Amino acid sequence: LLTWSSLVFGHQLLLLLLSIGVGVKTLGFHNPHHLKYLTLWWTASRIIQNMDPTSEPCNDFYQYACGGWLNRHVIPESSSRYSIFDKLRDDLEIILKGEEQKGLAVPAATFSKFLLRSNILGSKVPPSSYSYALRSFPALTFYEFKFLEPYWVMEEKLSMMNSQFNKRLLIDMFVWNDDRDSRSHIIYVSTTPGPSAQLGVREAYLQFMISIAKMIRADLNFTKDDEFVENEMLLVMKFETEIANVSNNIKAWETKQLLSSNSNVLSITPYQVSTPFSQNFNWTVFIQIVMSSVNINILENEEVVVYGVPYLQNLQEIISKYPARTIQNYLVWRLVQDQISNLSHRFKEARVSYRKALYGTSLEDVQWRECVRYVNNNMESAVGALYVKQSFAGESKRMVSDLIQKVREVFIETLNELQWMDELSKKRAQEKATAIREQIGYPDYILEEQNKKLDDEYYQLNFKEDMFFENTLENLKSNAQKSLKKLREKVDQDVWIIGAAVVNAFYSPNRNQIVFPAGILQPPFFSKQQLQALNFGGIGMVIGHEITHGFDDNGRNFDKDGNMLDWWSNFSSQHFKEQTKCMVYQYSNYSWDLAGGQHVSGLGTLGENIADNGGIRQAYKAYIKWVEQEGQEPRLPGLNLTHEQLFFINFAQVWCGSYRPEYASQSIKTDVHSPLKYRVMGSLQNFEAFSEAFHCHTGTVMHPEEKCRVW
Ligand SMILES: [Zn+2]
Repeated sequence: LLTWSSLVFGHQLLLLLLSIGVGVKTLGFHNPHHLKYLTLWWTASRIIQNMDPTSEPCNDFYQYACGGWLNRHVIPESSSRYSIFDKLRDDLEIILKGEEQKGLAVPAATFSKFLLRSNILGSKVPPSSYSYALRSFPALTFYEFKFLEPYWVMEEKLSMMNSQFNKRLLIDMFVWNDDRDSRSHIIYVSTTPGPSAQLGVREAYLQFMISIAKMIRADLNFTKDDEFVENEMLLVMKFETEIANVSNNIKAWETKQLLSSNSNVLSITPYQVSTPFSQNFNWTVFIQIVMSSVNINILENEEVVVYGVPYLQNLQEIISKYPARTIQNYLVWRLVQDQISNLSHRFKEARVSYRKALYGTSLEDVQWRECVRYVNNNMESAVGALYVKQSFAGESKRMVSDLIQKVREVFIETLNELQWMDELSKKRAQEKATAIREQIGYPDYILEEQNKKLDDEYYQLNFKEDMFFENTLENLKSNAQKSLKKLREKVDQDVWIIGAAVVNAFYSPNRNQIVFPAGILQPPFFSKQQLQALNFGGIGMVIGHEITHGFDDNGRNFDKDGNMLDWWSNFSSQHFKEQTKCMVYQYSNYSWDLAGGQHVSGLGTLGENIADNGGIRQAYKAYIKWVEQEGQEPRLPGLNLTHEQLFFINFAQVWCGSYRPEYASQSIKTDVHSPLKYRVMGSLQNFEAFSEAFHCHTGTVMHPEEKCRVW
C-alpha cells in the first residue's frame, strides 16, 4: 500500500522540517494556510515513521501501524512500559518543569513555595528530619519488640490510618456519591483490593520489607534484633497475602450486582450483630472516629452501603489467626511503603531489587520528574492553571465540544442498527446518551486573576518550607478530610474530578459525565491544524470510548441522572449479556508473548473492550458523516493512503508501545485495559469498515468471520 519511494520521501521530509523549524518562526510565518500546509508534511512524516509499511496490514495491523515506532524506541530504564501515550505524559512533565523554573506568577501563593522547596529535597535535607517525622506515624510502637496487646484497639488504628493518612486498610471506608441517589453523599464500606506479592517477586518483596524495617528501627534507636525483624516481616507478608487472596476474588461487578438488590444497605444501629465482620469489631466506634476528624457526628440510624460482604466475613477469620502486633506492623508497613518515594535516597535504594522483579525497571525516575508528578497529583488545580496558560489553545474547547456532539449523535443513530435491544430500552439509552454532560480542557475559574477560590483549596495546608516529608503527610490528611467532609453536603455536579494537566479521559457513572482534560487535547489525538480523519481517529475515538463507558457492563446499571437504577427490559438485558459473552471469549483467546503466553482476562477487561469497540465504530461513522457534509480533505503528501486508512492508522498509533516482561506479567493480572496491542487488534477485527478500508479478505487475521459487537 505504500511505495518505497514515498517511504524514502517521508524520511527526507522529516529532516527538512526539523532543519527549517527555527527559520519558520524567525521569518514571521503567519499565514494560516502555510501553517496548515506545513502541518500536513509534519503529520505525514510522523505517521510514516511510526509505521512498518513492509508488513501486511490484514495480517498484523499493529505491526503495520506501529512497527517503525517499536523499532526506534527502547523502554527507558526507569519505565515499565513505553508508548506514544506514555511519551506524551513524559513531555507534559517537561512542560511543567519549565513552568516551575521560569518562576511565573503563580495563582495559589502556597503552591510555588511548596514546589520550589520540594524540588530541592532529597540529598539536601538531613536524614534526621525523616526519622523525626516517622515518630509521628501511627502513634504506637513501630515494629516494636515488646508489644502490649491488651492496649491495642483495632477500631482506633484503622480509623487513624483512614482519617490522618488517607490510608484505607483492611476495611475501605469512604464517603462518595450515593449510587442510588446521585445528588447526595453516603458512607461506603468495601473491600480493599490488596496487593499480593506474586510468585517470583515474593523473595524480593520480603527483603525490601526487612531492610526498611531495620532502617527505621535503627533510626528510632530500637534494639537491634535482626532475627525478630525477619520473622515478623515474614508474618506480615503472609497476613497480607491472605487478605489479598480473599479481596481479589471478589470482582467489582459481583459487588455491584449485590447492591442493585439493595440487600446490603445497613444502618449503624445497636443491631451490630447482624452486620458482617462484627465480632470483636465495633462499626459504630470505627466510623464515628473517622468522621469525628471532620467534626461530623454519625446519626443513630446512619446508612452505610456495604460492598463485598463475603470479604468482610473472610477478614474476620484471617484476623483472628494473627497477633495484634503483626496486624499493627502490617498497617505501618503499608503506610511506609507508600511513602518511600518521599523519603531520602537510602530508602529508595532498599527497593531496587523489588522494583526490578515487579516492573523490570533498573533505575528510579529522576528527581525532578517525581517532584513534578507529585505536585501535579496533589495540587492539580494550581498546576493545571500553569499548564493551560502555557500550552492550551482556547478555541480547542469549542472544537472538541463540536466533536462530542457529532459522536454522540452517531451513538444514538447507531442504536437503530441493534437487533438485540427492544424499542423501550433503545429509547432509554438515547435519553441517557443525550443527558451525558461534558467537561473539556479545564475549569474556568483556575485562570482567574486574584484567585480566591484557588487559594482556598490550599489554605488549610500547613506547609513548612524545608520539611518536605511533613508536607506530604499534611497532603495525606487534607486529601482524606476533603472527601470525608462531603458526607452532609449535596453533590456539586460541576466540580472537576481531575486536573487539567493530565493525558487521559474519563467517564463518571454517578454523574453521567465525560471529562477531557487539556492534557489529552494535543496530537496525535487532536489539533486544529491536523486532518479531521486524524482527529476523529484520535480524540473522536476517545470520545466514543468514554460515552460507551456509560453503557458498558458497569455503566449500564446507572440511569441518565447517575442513579443506580435498572432501566433495561428483561429482553434487552438478557441479550446484552449474550453480546458481551462473545467479547469475553474473543479477548480471552489472546495469549500475550510478553507475559510469557498468559491469556488476557476477557472478563476483567470487558468494560474497557466494550468501550474500545464502541468508540472506534462511532468515531468512524462520525467522520464519514463529516466528509459527506464538508467534503474531502487534502491527502497527506508522500503517502499513498486513503483518509479511511489514515483514520485507522492514527487510532492504532495512539497505542504504539511495549512493556517490560516483568510488568506485562503483572499488568495482565491487574490492568482493566487489554494490552495495547490487543486494544487495537480486538476492536478492528470486529469492525467491517476496517477490512473494507484495507481490502482484507474474509478469513485473514484482521477480518475473521465471527465478529463481536455490543454497541
Ligand atoms: Zn476506558
